[in-house]
Amino acid sequence: MLQDQDRIFTNIYGMADRSLKGAQSRGHWDGTKDLIGLGRDKIVEIMKASGLRGRGGAGFPTGLKWSFMPKESDGRPAYLVINADESEPGTCKDREIMRHDPHTLIEGALIASFAMNAHACYIYIRGEYIREKEALQAAIDEAYDAGLIGKNACGSGWKFDLYLHHGAGAYICGEETALLESLEGKKGMPRMKPPFPAGAGLYGCPTTVNNVESIAVVPTILRRGAEWFAGFGRPNNAGTKLFAISGHVNRPCVVEEAMSISFEELIETHCGGIRGGWDNLKAVIPGGSSVPMIPGKDMRNAIMDFDYLREQRSGLGTAAVIVMDNSTDIIKAIWRLSAFYKHESCGQCTPCREGTGWMMRVMDRLVKGEAEVEEIDMLLDVTKQVEGHTICALGDAAAWPIQGLIRHFRDEIEDRIKHKRTPRPAVAAE
Ligand code: SF4
Repeated sequence: MLQDQDRIFTNIYGMADRSLKGAQSRGHWDGTKDLIGLGRDKIVEIMKASGLRGRGGAGFPTGLKWSFMPKESDGRPAYLVINADESEPGTCKDREIMRHDPHTLIEGALIASFAMNAHACYIYIRGEYIREKEALQAAIDEAYDAGLIGKNACGSGWKFDLYLHHGAGAYICGEETALLESLEGKKGMPRMKPPFPAGAGLYGCPTTVNNVESIAVVPTILRRGAEWFAGFGRPNNAGTKLFAISGHVNRPCVVEEAMSISFEELIETHCGGIRGGWDNLKAVIPGGSSVPMIPGKDMRNAIMDFDYLREQRSGLGTAAVIVMDNSTDIIKAIWRLSAFYKHESCGQCTPCREGTGWMMRVMDRLVKGEAEVEEIDMLLDVTKQVEGHTICALGDAAAWPIQGLIRHFRDEIEDRIKHKRTPRPAVAAE
């Protein structure tokens, strides 16, 4: 279990004062000028050595991503954009940072922007996050008033402006290039890559898009050192991590833990165990709704990190752990996700636009026991045609949960079809 002195997020439950005064009393904004004084190359070097991998789902090494930004300006401004459009079903970790510990994010934004030669940073916050927006804006105002950001940030001589942009509720705007389109005032549709944002991002300028948690951990990593951070977790899976655990556990929560903690320890230590005990565990979606589920029998000893979960044909994703016990209608659970992805598809590429609708319609029939058994393989075939054939990852995200369902619970689907099981009333009504 992670010790209190090793926690980066010191106010994740909002028990302490989130204002600047409170944040400073917990060590934030301490010696920030000196951290900037390390210089750009040194900061990037430390971030690479820390082993931090992006906390928004993809797990790309953060320091390496920063190093893609041009070292010298070619006349175009550079930007840092922070993705706070946290909309993945099950994911609610960044919300806790923004509403209870906003100064960790603001200090991180300053340092990361400096490291990438960006005088401006935009935080794109999810439309539904009203209170979080208010908390964050209040903290930004405090930081300006105290001279921590602005014309001479922390007395470092670095000019830095931070803008908070409120989204309008589209899931697809969490995709980094759709987010940039939306920031520019256009319809939030993903761009073809290349060019990648580091070459031509916001307003055609060099841009790095990072997740909230990835940026919020930066000041502590610089203060405590790359070795300290790299000391948690298995090789290539370094650091501490926020896990958002929901579903059929006794105490759902968001908690910071060491990477590579076992699933059993995570659940027993922080969630009071599985509802009804471990024998009652049916399946787990370990990384937000976009990754395939893993059956309960294979989860107890699972290692909660990027590499282990990928080897299990799933993923750590955003570390939004959705726990389902034996009372779960597992077909209905995935049907619901199919409806979500169909609704959120931006519609610009055919496999996703048509495929998500097709998948949802078959799932509609499966969940009610009205499909034919042969349709299971047809559905699987459609997911394979969508997977990897779309502009952005939403197509994959729609396909993978269904693939996981068929891989692990084909018997249950067949059983429902063969016995024409009565659908649950909620499904019939929906
Ligand atoms: Fe839009 Fe879907 Fe294509 Fe992504 S995969 S660009 S959401 S249509």
